[in-house]
Amino acid sequence: MTDTQEHTWGERYADSLMNTFGQPKLVLTRGAGAHVWDTDGKEYVDLLGGIAVNALGHAHPALVEAVTAQLGTLGHISNFFASEPQVRLAEKLLALLDAGPGKVFFTNSGAEANEAAFKLTRRTGRTHVVAAQGGFHGRTMGALALTSKEAYRAPFEPLPGDVTFVPYGDAEALAAAVTDRTAAILLEPMQGEAGVVTPPKGYLAAARTIADEHGALLWLDEIQTGLGRTGRWFAHHSAGVTPDIVTVAKGLAGGIPIGACIGVGESGTLLEPGNHGTTFGGNPVACAAALAVIGTIETDGLLEHVTALGQKLRDGLAADPRVTEVRGEGLLIGLDLAAEVSAAVTAGALAHGFIINNPTPHRIRLAPPLVLTQDDAEAFLTAWPAILDEAFEGQS
Ligand SMILES: *Cc1c(COP(=O)(O)O)cnc(C)c1O
Repeated sequence: MTDTQEHTWGERYADSLMNTFGQPKLVLTRGAGAHVWDTDGKEYVDLLGGIAVNALGHAHPALVEAVTAQLGTLGHISNFFASEPQVRLAEKLLALLDAGPGKVFFTNSGAEANEAAFKLTRRTGRTHVVAAQGGFHGRTMGALALTSKEAYRAPFEPLPGDVTFVPYGDAEALAAAVTDRTAAILLEPMQGEAGVVTPPKGYLAAARTIADEHGALLWLDEIQTGLGRTGRWFAHHSAGVTPDIVTVAKGLAGGIPIGACIGVGESGTLLEPGNHGTTFGGNPVACAAALAVIGTIETDGLLEHVTALGQKLRDGLAADPRVTEVRGEGLLIGLDLAAEVSAAVTAGALAHGFIINNPTPHRIRLAPPLVLTQDDAEAFLTAWPAILDEAFEGQS
């Protein structure tokens, strides 16, 4: 298509869609693997993966086939009925979580998974939740109540209450905030939206101990970090802790909307008949898609691939002196720049044919498809110094 038409799509977008996201950078028409194409036919390497969603990249045959076959067999039923993909996925998630018996509630997004978990915590008979500053848990009223960022919260107050925010990574502050009336401690194993902020070693274990001391639940939001993103099925597996609640979404079905609230042990029985519901949650197509994503990660050995390629990317990015810190695990990567030029770096990367993300003025985040190839990673590392040159020169 021509420029004029792309301009037209942008105008039509502005005229017909609510302006909640700002004007989109591109209008995309198709994708394959870790590559996407815009309306001009220009090709990009997608190093953001729809924000940690496109685990198998774009148009992966296993996902296309699973969705097509399920839709051609049984596309939607209500929750008055059960389906085989729904039961198989619940069993699979519990097996991957490896925390003993539990129960799953399926949703259609991350925020809804957190809403379900938030309601579940109220069924303890307590209302107080301790969450972390810089954390992100979604945009519905309940999920927003658990998210500290003032700019997101302020326009919508009053939000559902009784939430205390503590500095992330500070076990002493957490211990001081949790009391015998605390229902749950809510933490991300790494704070994705904050720019992949990682806590000190031992933080999640300390949170587990603090929760136990007060009879509170430990709730881990693995919506961004879960399902292979960090080279493990769940990021908290490296911390050796067993949570009571885990929420997942984003990468679970590789781009088909789904989320899940997993209750470990007794936590899985707190929501009772009539307490909660959803029309689409547990939809057979979404569950079949998730089973295809998980199956492909297993059969293609993607966890090992993610671990090795993530290390290579982090090492390559850190080699430039204008990068002051690189964080994350596997293919969830955050880095700090020596100046507040992350918007220029992201724009420059796009001009060079790479999609990346700038969560804060000095931070860059990468969350590429788990199927990203060595060649694509190397191409980005080759372009990286020039991208930084342009952004830092523009600044002086
Ligand atoms: C993206 C995200 C959410 C919200 O998920 P949505 O599907 O956008 O509602 C919640 N928690 C974390 C950690 C996330 O990264």
